[in-house]
Amino acid sequence: MEEKLLRKKINPWENIDIDEKDKIYNFSQGFIEFLKENKTERECTKTIEEKLKEKGFKNIEKVDNIKSGDKIYYMNRKKNIYAGIIGEDLSQGFNMIGAHIDSPRLDLKPNPLYEDADLALLKTHYYGGIKKYQWVNIPLSMHGIIVKKDGHKVEINIGEKEEDPIFTIADLLPHLSSIQDKKPLKDAIEGEDLNILAGSIPLNTSEKEKVKLNILTILNEKYGITEEDFTSSEIEFTPAMKPKDLGFDRSLIAGYGQDDRVCAYTSLQALLNIEKTSKTALCVLVDKEEIGSMGNTGMFSNTFDYFIDILFEKANISKTEKNKIYNISKVLSADVTGAYNPNYKDIYEKNNESYINKGISILKYTGSASKAGASDANAEYLGYIRNLFETNGITYQVSEMGKIGIGGGGTIAYILANKGMDVIDCGIPIMSMHSPYEISSKFDIYTAYKAYKIFYEAS
Ligand code: MN
Ligand code: MN
Repeated sequence: MEEKLLRKKINPWENIDIDEKDKIYNFSQGFIEFLKENKTERECTKTIEEKLKEKGFKNIEKVDNIKSGDKIYYMNRKKNIYAGIIGEDLSQGFNMIGAHIDSPRLDLKPNPLYEDADLALLKTHYYGGIKKYQWVNIPLSMHGIIVKKDGHKVEINIGEKEEDPIFTIADLLPHLSSIQDKKPLKDAIEGEDLNILAGSIPLNTSEKEKVKLNILTILNEKYGITEEDFTSSEIEFTPAMKPKDLGFDRSLIAGYGQDDRVCAYTSLQALLNIEKTSKTALCVLVDKEEIGSMGNTGMFSNTFDYFIDILFEKANISKTEKNKIYNISKVLSADVTGAYNPNYKDIYEKNNESYINKGISILKYTGSASKAGASDANAEYLGYIRNLFETNGITYQVSEMGKIGIGGGGTIAYILANKGMDVIDCGIPIMSMHSPYEISSKFDIYTAYKAYKIFYEAS
């Protein structure tokens, strides 16, 4: 009866043969390389465009008409990208996977550079939900662009190469922390305390703020910029630590930016490796999820519909069909979820959590407390996904995240569900999510890759 009726509780690693283990480890190596090289949404889209071109995907704006079997992509402002393989009949709807390529980080303020006690510092404004105390006393690298008055763009990447300097935020020493120690964790480090140390040598001059002036001299020599150019820049400071295998058995990966580049990478690789698809397969990699999906590169942007309009026009499908096609389309919102952390047992309702090494996680709904803000997928669609995964031997788990009322979160799922598509959250469990060093399982990553490929290819 147990065999027949009860949910099976096996650790998937126990049944893995050498071949499969090799595949898991090799795939994860590719992901580690991707994570190492791509720490911002701009760096991601650049690499992703190269990967797409290598596999024969063409910029949709440069093709005249689109037919079955064509591979296309649309680049939006170098911060978000849509890619697809056209199926036999586009009017029969599409199988779409959406992930995000922005991650929590420290952005520079518009007027960042100042001097205090003969030290040069940079004011930051954090992006996304971070626990601020985690971002002090770690090595930081500087990424982004500065646009000069004449429109000329300067790209910056400092702190990743072995020979590069790094940056850091100096926390208070324990000897003088008695007041800080009494504050609630969320207030111990304030937003205005996240000031990055950037130099200490003064310029040999009689002017004031000599250290700041020296930093500006270095920047001017290297990039041709002045202090005012910071006002038209997008500079992101990210953890400079390299992603690494974690554990004696190397079964886990530690690295910054896995929310949500782990789902972006797996859903992209699945698309790139499709040989034949009857349905149209779309991969949507968006920006701004961590701050609410707003803006012209976020999931809410009309640019997504603009891309679909171009696609339909070039495939000779009437725009009036759009809502009908949305209504018969299937979507996986590929975003990470929090994995059960044995250090904090009380936070969880054990029967309904995602666990490391238990495969890809399906969340019928996200949101918080009353399910507020969730799209809450229908049972029929969950049934469809379950059947697809079970038929194809995909290890999956169905969960919530934490006890009711403890917290919550959202994804892009409801934005696409609002368009009429069937959408469900389906991603990789992550421990220490939003921290500078997030943790994932190689088994779960490879399982997600296989699940996404099967989903795209389903008829
Ligand atoms: Mn996410
Ligand atoms: Mn997130």
